[in-house]
Amino acid sequence: LKSPYSGGHVEVIVGPMFSGKSEELIRRVTRAVIARQRVAVFKPALDDRYHASHVASHAGRTAEALAVPDAQAIRAHLSGEDALLAAPVEAVDVVGIDEAQFFGSDLVPLVLELADAGVRVIVAGLDLDFRAEPFGMMPELLARAESAEKLTAICTVCGAPATRSQRLIGGQPARYDDPVVLVGAQESYEARCRVHHTLRR
Ligand code: ADP
Repeated sequence: LKSPYSGGHVEVIVGPMFSGKSEELIRRVTRAVIARQRVAVFKPALDDRYHASHVASHAGRTAEALAVPDAQAIRAHLSGEDALLAAPVEAVDVVGIDEAQFFGSDLVPLVLELADAGVRVIVAGLDLDFRAEPFGMMPELLARAESAEKLTAICTVCGAPATRSQRLIGGQPARYDDPVVLVGAQESYEARCRVHHTLRR
């Protein structure tokens, strides 16, 4: 006989920048908090240090989150090895992860492990990079998730549903080969549809 359903599963929220991924993650997490479920939210730290932080949407909504350097730090945190805010995995019902595309491929086994242990894991991140190529391990997460929601933004050129993130460097479309991190460059991003997403040749 199989053991009873634990409730553990994976939900993925994807789309381009400005599509409301953080908003949707915050919405789901806030509902869980209202239902008195035990929730832990993580996001990648830009530096190497843990710190209490928050997930914020472009529209200004926020939820408390812990910024962590890598997926291993999430595991350490949830296994109670880490003194700051330590919550053992048996003590969480819901784990939220924002900006998931910036974690390495070891995020996938961690997410599956948590779901197997009975945790509802909600993962938000970019499905495509600025070239409109699949972003890191996000395709694998999408394939392995129980549910996946693909959100769209509004194309800044024509108003159509935007599925892509246009990268601009000094106001010009980025080149395919431009490095993902450009030190000192004037960069910005806009939501674009398939027609209006361009790469400079
Ligand atoms: P994501 O996490 O996908 O980047 P956010 O949840 O942070 O998205 O922000 C979504 C919000 O961004 C929208 O509710 C809207 O207020 C704002 N926004 C700004 N530009 C756009 C755009 N081009 N299309 C849609 N929403 C936009």
